Amino acid sequence: MEWIFSPNFEPRPGGPSDVTSIIFHHTGSDNGDGTISWFQNPNSRVSAHYVVDRDAQITNMVDTNDRAWHAGISELNGRSNVNDFSIGIEIVNPDGNWSPYTEAQYQSLEWLTQDLLNKYPSITHITGHEDVALPKGRKSDPGDLFDWNRIREAAYGANPNVFPVVGAV
Ligand SMILES: [Zn+2]
Repeated sequence: MEWIFSPNFEPRPGGPSDVTSIIFHHTGSDNGDGTISWFQNPNSRVSAHYVVDRDAQITNMVDTNDRAWHAGISELNGRSNVNDFSIGIEIVNPDGNWSPYTEAQYQSLEWLTQDLLNKYPSITHITGHEDVALPKGRKSDPGDLFDWNRIREAAYGANPNVFPVVGAV
């Protein structure tokens, strides 16, 4: 894992103990370095905690205890401002509705999911941007080709005390 700083973050209003979800995204591009540069640019006003490239490389850009800017206007389980209480993971893919994710990416995501569940037993939901973005239909990532079963199995193999909802909510 590599650390490349993004200036686009702020403290979580509820602090680190408020981390209760993980949100998956596709980047909308095949160019991982381009996404990383965009998140490094203070003018973009966007970021994610992690970027997972096609070759499995994980880049950590915002401390998970802080609030990254990935979900926009959003709601999960009746609670708005999903960025406040989520960890955002951007997966490099032009569009997960027609472009498959790589095996290397799934392996990185499985590892990352387990690592985060062990670090934050407070996590109750792992879902996609498409499921939390408002208004409904505004976003379609990570898309129909994303295999939630891979993440579900990884999650249930992590902390035995944690059984998050995985996939659509
Ligand atoms: Zn997204």
